[in-house]
Amino acid sequence: MNTQGIKKVVIAGGGTAGWMAAASIAKLIGKHLDITLVESDDIGTVGVGEATIPPLLTLHQLLGIKEQEFMAATNATFKLGIAFENWRNVNEDYFHSFGTTGKDCWACGFQHFWAKGVERGIAGDYAQYSPETIAAYENKFAVLPKNGVNYAYHLDASLYAKFLRNMAEEHGAKRQEGKIASVQTNDQTGYITSLTLESGQVIDGDLFIDCTGFRALLIEQTLHTGYDDWTHILPCDSALAVQTTAVEDPIPYTRSIAHEWGWQWRIPLQSRVGNGLVYCSKYVSDEQAKERLLASVQGELLTEPRLIKFKTGQRRKHWNKNCIALGLSSGFIEPLESTSIHLIQRGIVRLLQMFPQNQVQQSDVDEFNAQMAHEVDNIRDFIVLHYHVTNREDSRFWRHCKSMEIPESLQHRIDLFRETGRVFKVPNELFGENSWIQVMLGQGIMPKQYHPIVDTMTDKELVDFLEHIKMNSLRLAQQLPSHQDFINHHCKSTML
Ligand code: FAD
Repeated sequence: MNTQGIKKVVIAGGGTAGWMAAASIAKLIGKHLDITLVESDDIGTVGVGEATIPPLLTLHQLLGIKEQEFMAATNATFKLGIAFENWRNVNEDYFHSFGTTGKDCWACGFQHFWAKGVERGIAGDYAQYSPETIAAYENKFAVLPKNGVNYAYHLDASLYAKFLRNMAEEHGAKRQEGKIASVQTNDQTGYITSLTLESGQVIDGDLFIDCTGFRALLIEQTLHTGYDDWTHILPCDSALAVQTTAVEDPIPYTRSIAHEWGWQWRIPLQSRVGNGLVYCSKYVSDEQAKERLLASVQGELLTEPRLIKFKTGQRRKHWNKNCIALGLSSGFIEPLESTSIHLIQRGIVRLLQMFPQNQVQQSDVDEFNAQMAHEVDNIRDFIVLHYHVTNREDSRFWRHCKSMEIPESLQHRIDLFRETGRVFKVPNELFGENSWIQVMLGQGIMPKQYHPIVDTMTDKELVDFLEHIKMNSLRLAQQLPSHQDFINHHCKSTML
């Protein structure tokens, strides 16, 4: 790749975003680039972000990361999806699994066949047609050579950054310790020219990547890019995170447990469990939230609860002048579906695809921003769905979520599914039909109709069709070893 004009890439910040960017740029296009990452041990990282989604496997493949090595180095476990507990009603659960459920036909998705099955009393719970869900609840897992289960990882965020740092440094990226005290810009163009550290050292560059987390030191504090605030549809603004010892073998899924004013995550690693409470401070104090978190975790505390404040929303431009924001500096939807690390990955891959040859082209910048915004808006709608479609009315928080005005794009999807059972994936959106369907059904929307093609099957054929899928899903799940056994053989941590 010819990068005559863009020689020096400066990455500000060394959390997950910074090191993912450094490793990817260095490994994939770094041969003729000078890459420097600046981070401050005094400031540290946000220290959360441990659940991922399946596309991370694609990035790892691109980077040549070996799964066993990576998992052993980050105390990682496997993740088949997320269990949503108490979201639709208190004491009711559903599962959002990765992969597909049942079998679609050319005209319509499996949910249409299933819906008729429910009407006739011959279909089981939707989850019974998903091998990932069955395996998850039976605590089973294996990576199979083909026709296996779809999965992602739970990982230790600080070990992941360390793992990527090694990789970035092996490929020539340099790390500079120090606090950035000021950012210089060109008077005429407004482009960033250099960063000055507290020590007085100046780091100049051609392209700057802002990975400074919620501080957004370059993209906002320097370039004043602006932020679209989504608090009115995603009202949670606080989180408390704490690590505990494990009291059982790690389960292969994330637990998301709804409370009166937010929800709690439980993420099992090989070495410990990550717990956190996400809540809306309008309805509960930090102190009450902390009491609730501590009362509901299992195992011994390994850390003190850590308070994190945030504002849900998106930076108006992810790329402004010669600065690209990745990670929390570009915005934060909220961690409910583990989409933040994925958006870092998408930003990196897009940047590599549009990497400037000589100088930054405004058409690239506009395209990058349009694609990122489109992707983030669709994820936002998916997350808002979980809060808005619920039967819960037991607290002011849930009454607000249920009655709030939602984006038209989301309202349309809900109406379409409720009235016709149809779901269409928007081009380039992250979540596919199976994700939307599982969450819409799980949150309590039952379609009023099914596609007429289903009636071309006799009742006997429909029974056989549903039964066959159910049995195959069960068989696939049951042949798997336990999650813990598979970890022991495949990727046991080197630190335990
Ligand atoms: P940070 O980790 O905050 O890193 C910022 C870096 O910038 C640090 O190295 C810091 O030292 C440096 N820095 C800042 N200012 C300066 C300065 N002046 N000088 C020098 N260096 C500086 N994502 C998921 O995908 N899955 C999840 O399960 C998930 N859960 C989350 C739960 C919560 C409560 C929150 C808040 C986020 C969660 N996320 C999750 C998001 C995820 O944590 C982040 O996307 C990810 O950690 C990347 O963060 P970052 O690198 O952008 O920022």
